Amino acid sequence: MPIDDAPRRLAEVNAAIARAARLASRSPESVTLIAVSKTHDADAIRPLIAAGQRVFGENRVQEAAAKWPALRDETPGISLHLIGQLQSNKADEAVALFDAIHAVDRLSLVSALARAMDKAGRRPDCFVQVNIGDEPQKGGCPVADLPALLAEARAAELPLAGLMCVPPQGVEPAPYFALLAKLARDHGLAGLSMGMSSDFETAVTIGATQVRVGSALFGARA
Ligand SMILES: *Cc1c(COP(=O)(O)O)cnc(C)c1O
Repeated sequence: MPIDDAPRRLAEVNAAIARAARLASRSPESVTLIAVSKTHDADAIRPLIAAGQRVFGENRVQEAAAKWPALRDETPGISLHLIGQLQSNKADEAVALFDAIHAVDRLSLVSALARAMDKAGRRPDCFVQVNIGDEPQKGGCPVADLPALLAEARAAELPLAGLMCVPPQGVEPAPYFALLAKLARDHGLAGLSMGMSSDFETAVTIGATQVRVGSALFGARA
């Protein structure tokens, strides 16, 4: 995608978010757009920053560590979200680099993040990823294990911001978004990280507070 397209793409996605929010009698400001920049290099990211985008998502610690320190030096006020699986042995690096972590999905990671936060004196927002379709190959905490994992996260004093999911592919996502919203309500959590390029408007009408949009902003990934 030509990089000159970035401001137009960003404006279109923001307008679609605002439309969906108003449809659900929500304020557009209640939704944060996370621009998912995984696989894209700094030259592809800069036009979006120039167009005003400040919140970005990456799915690999190593890739983010290579790209973002320099981009952050150029522009203050960037917020960086980790949206992919995190290995416990990278918890220190993730806590140092990210402002939010969206894939907390198991007890060993809760413990590793709690230790890393205590050591660093830095406490990124945490979203617990739920395997909302109970798919065998998919990351995320099984729905049935969620109460126990949330109790552990609270006991470890992780700053719990909400729940995150990636619904099963190829089926209507709305019922899965609705289930995630219900689980968040049941557990007193305000944040709902759900919705990607193909379904973020649906997610916003069902209550998403964070949408994670990549290809609609950057074009298809190689
Ligand atoms: C890549 C990714 C996205 C963005 O996907 P698009 O379809 O490009 O918008 C969102 N969430 C997660 C967890 C991802 O890995």
